[in-house]
Amino acid sequence: MIKLNRRIAAIKHSATLAADARASEMRAAGINVMPLAAGEPDFDTPERIKEAARRALAEGRTHYTPVAGIPELKAAIRFKLKRDNGLDYQLNEILVSAGGKQAEANVINALFDEGDEVIIPTPAWVSFFAMVSLSGASPIPVRCPEEQGFLLDPDQLQRAITPRTRGIILVSPANPTGAVYSAAHLSELAKVLVENDLWVMSDDVYEHIVYDGAVPHLFKIEPRLKQRGVVFNSLSKAYAMTGWRLGFAAGPSEVIAAAARLQSQNSGNPNSITQFAAVEALTGPQDELARMVDEFRARRELVVDRVRRVPGFHLPHKPSGAFYVFPSIRALLGTRFADKRINDGDTFADILLNEAHVALVGGNDFGAPEHVRISYATSRENLNEAFDRLERFVARLVR
Ligand code: GLU
Repeated sequence: MIKLNRRIAAIKHSATLAADARASEMRAAGINVMPLAAGEPDFDTPERIKEAARRALAEGRTHYTPVAGIPELKAAIRFKLKRDNGLDYQLNEILVSAGGKQAEANVINALFDEGDEVIIPTPAWVSFFAMVSLSGASPIPVRCPEEQGFLLDPDQLQRAITPRTRGIILVSPANPTGAVYSAAHLSELAKVLVENDLWVMSDDVYEHIVYDGAVPHLFKIEPRLKQRGVVFNSLSKAYAMTGWRLGFAAGPSEVIAAAARLQSQNSGNPNSITQFAAVEALTGPQDELARMVDEFRARRELVVDRVRRVPGFHLPHKPSGAFYVFPSIRALLGTRFADKRINDGDTFADILLNEAHVALVGGNDFGAPEHVRISYATSRENLNEAFDRLERFVARLVR
């Protein structure tokens, strides 16, 4: 065994990316796999954004850029944060990275340290646990069950806080549950956060994908949190740009400068062509978004209805945002498919993929092993076919 770095040795491959990779491998081998694993829109990047990239290439924008992003893009991000979130940031309070993920990892690394605790309302996106551990701090999952709509209760937050708690990661709409905090709920949480002087990492990646109306930003509801908070966002979901890798963080300049120093040492600037395309994405006409959300809304109806018809699947709340549902499969645990036993969400996902060629993600690495995550960022035709297969699969499970 080669001795690896202790922190790296302790992390697993990202479960979301691994599930998607397995499905892609099977597809490459000629198997018709239904893609309900990937958290990525199935739409194409809008033409106006591609055109901006072509223009940047033709103009030879192929060199290094400033590590934290080109000034035009920082200005576009500043404009977007004002337009969409009502938040004012200066250019030196903005960091552009190769994906929201890199922005989050760099800020978390810059801010937290050994001995710190960071609260993660759970179920949570798989990578947050790893990002916090890699910084040396301890991720503290706080379980928010489906009965409470997967939302963190303010009393629960208060109880989870210790003298070592430095921060919290809040995501709304949430991945993997699609849960959305109301303005009233956010202001209750804000009171506890301000009283305890916690750092708030606000992941707004799914902000536009909401079905029951937009909610004001947490830092708008409680402006004092902006001084102790960082917003994260990405172009991946809103503009169907997952492969381009473009995300950003905005927060106090000292934190942003520290994260940029880290970025300067371990990667450098995000892709130059992508940055020019991102300026167009953020500042050009935004009407593709509404069309995308309309389609997601129709798919949500379809998926919620079909999930609720699968015996053993339980989904009490209709999610208000993102493009995921996170049903419980508790009633199916302990059943078998031939000689294979379903122990948890991960074994369910594994057996389902092999036997019925439907890819989804088990709930284990989201901190909820009795659940599975279904992404409906795929066509209605695929969704219907996937649920037909899923129903036939579940019908063959025996005790
Ligand atoms: N956020 C998406 C997901 O949860 C993308 C994959 C990832 O980076 O985790 O599927």
